[in-house]
Amino acid sequence: MSHPHPTREALQQEAAVRLATLQGKALSSRDRMAIPSQDMPSQSPDARRANMGEVALGYTAEQARLEALRCLQCKNAPCIDGCPVRIDIPAFVKAMAEGRDAEAIAIIRRNSLLPSVCGRVCPQEVQCQERCTVGKVLKSVDKAVSIGRLERYAADLERESGDFRLPPVKPETGKRVAVIGSGPASITVAADVRREGHAVTLFEAFHKPGGVLIYGIPEFRLPKTIVQQEIETLQAMGVELKTNFLVGRTRKLQDLIDKDGFDAVFVGTGAGLPKFMNIEGENLVGVFSANEYLTRANLMRAYDTGRADTPIFKSRKVAVLGGGNVAMDSARMAVRLGAQEVHLVYRRTEAEMPARVEEVGHAKEEGVLFHMLQNPCRILGNDFGLVTGMECLRYTLGEPDDSGRRRPVEIPGSEFVMEVDTVIVAIGNESNPLIRQTTPGLAVNRRGNLVVAPETGKTSIDRIYAGGDIVLGAATVILAMGEGRKAAASINALLATPVA
Ligand SMILES: Cc1cc2nc3c(=O)[nH]c(=O)nc-3n(C[C@H](O)[C@H](O)[C@H](O)COP(=O)(O)OP(=O)(O)OC[C@H]3O[C@@H](n4cnc5c(N)ncnc54)[C@H](O)[C@@H]3O)c2cc1C
Repeated sequence: MSHPHPTREALQQEAAVRLATLQGKALSSRDRMAIPSQDMPSQSPDARRANMGEVALGYTAEQARLEALRCLQCKNAPCIDGCPVRIDIPAFVKAMAEGRDAEAIAIIRRNSLLPSVCGRVCPQEVQCQERCTVGKVLKSVDKAVSIGRLERYAADLERESGDFRLPPVKPETGKRVAVIGSGPASITVAADVRREGHAVTLFEAFHKPGGVLIYGIPEFRLPKTIVQQEIETLQAMGVELKTNFLVGRTRKLQDLIDKDGFDAVFVGTGAGLPKFMNIEGENLVGVFSANEYLTRANLMRAYDTGRADTPIFKSRKVAVLGGGNVAMDSARMAVRLGAQEVHLVYRRTEAEMPARVEEVGHAKEEGVLFHMLQNPCRILGNDFGLVTGMECLRYTLGEPDDSGRRRPVEIPGSEFVMEVDTVIVAIGNESNPLIRQTTPGLAVNRRGNLVVAPETGKTSIDRIYAGGDIVLGAATVILAMGEGRKAAASINALLATPVA
């Protein structure tokens, strides 16, 4: 791997020199667009292959200021329309361009509860940045103002300064709300409902709260201390946390209202049920769902072989099936767990991959080998039941399917064998079924997602609300947060209404 890899210091210096030339100048649109888009400093590919530390290191102060100066402050602000929670992007970017960083984060926080998280994991290139005029004029979404990186910078600055004030909580109302799950949807509901003075209990099935932010997205993309801090903020606000509590087993959903006296419930249980290919050989030793693979490594810290007791499968040649963020995370985790070769196998082409562009780039830099327009039709094993390879087919692209992406069409007779000892299936997740199976009267759609009223997030049962992946199917952090915010507003309205 011989990518030129500028150090953070070099990027900082370059930005400082350029910034000095702009000091005190009234910048025209042309001047702003002449400022080069700022690269994200990152660990070098060679170094990061061997550690779990965060890959992207965050802008320096000079880079952040310079990047913010690229914004044209468009009157119609198309970027806001691209943001699912409608952050006032031009306003926060302007504040940063003028050195008012504290004001910038205050503006972001009006709409987003988790800016350190969203600045890192949102798919900005298909949201706010896709709409950015700078990117449009320069004919490349890569050249759009890096709104996500600026959000991250402002949020990190606030966190690292220790100057974070706890959100005010209104006097106790005596009302109680149960929030099930502790991913981004539930964290948002817990905060928004608690702020109104209602008692909130968060029930989480795992031993650690945070949902996918803890068990799915790896440390090298989202440091766990950031998520931990959000949970501690909730606890400091008075939110009670009950871990190892599986609603549907430990306690039925309806019992929380009928027997335990909760006035309302929010279900934010996510989409944690892995899909499989249903092909021959999928039960061989060495085949994992991405969920299991990542949960072992993240939540159970299997990579920390000296200290964690979690066993980890020693792989030499790994195939990861899929093209989304989950596939990218699995492949990059396999690299860090010591696999000699990691192959990413996807039925379509890179253009159809749903993964964040940055993660695709990082995976390639780290040596993940991409195989497009291929898919296994059979997993092969030996007499001991261990994976030895995959029989694959080659594909071509046909007409667009329901998702709008061109449908992969297999090429008859194109079979070939790929030798691997591990197969990680990352082709999608479905909603967790336990609650729907144990709650009579709870309406679900044909995919098993809970059906809610779009305006309020209310389910088919009174006082029970839902949001995030359990409603949307596997989606994104920001959408889960947005859904949570809507449901929290409905719960607060419900609890503010005196009982007739
Ligand atoms: C590996 C991976 C990478 C991803 N990368 C990105 C990314 O880069 N950008 C992005 O925007 N999105 C990404 N996503 C998607 C994103 O993480 C999810 O859309 C988001 O976390 C959904 O939030 P949620 O609150 O609905 O549920 P979750 O985060 O799934 O949390 C649900 C929680 O509910 C708990 N739970 C489930 N059932 C019960 C029960 N019966 N009782 C109690 N608790 C229960 C679960 O243990 C879990 O902690 C990724 C997902 C994965 C898996």
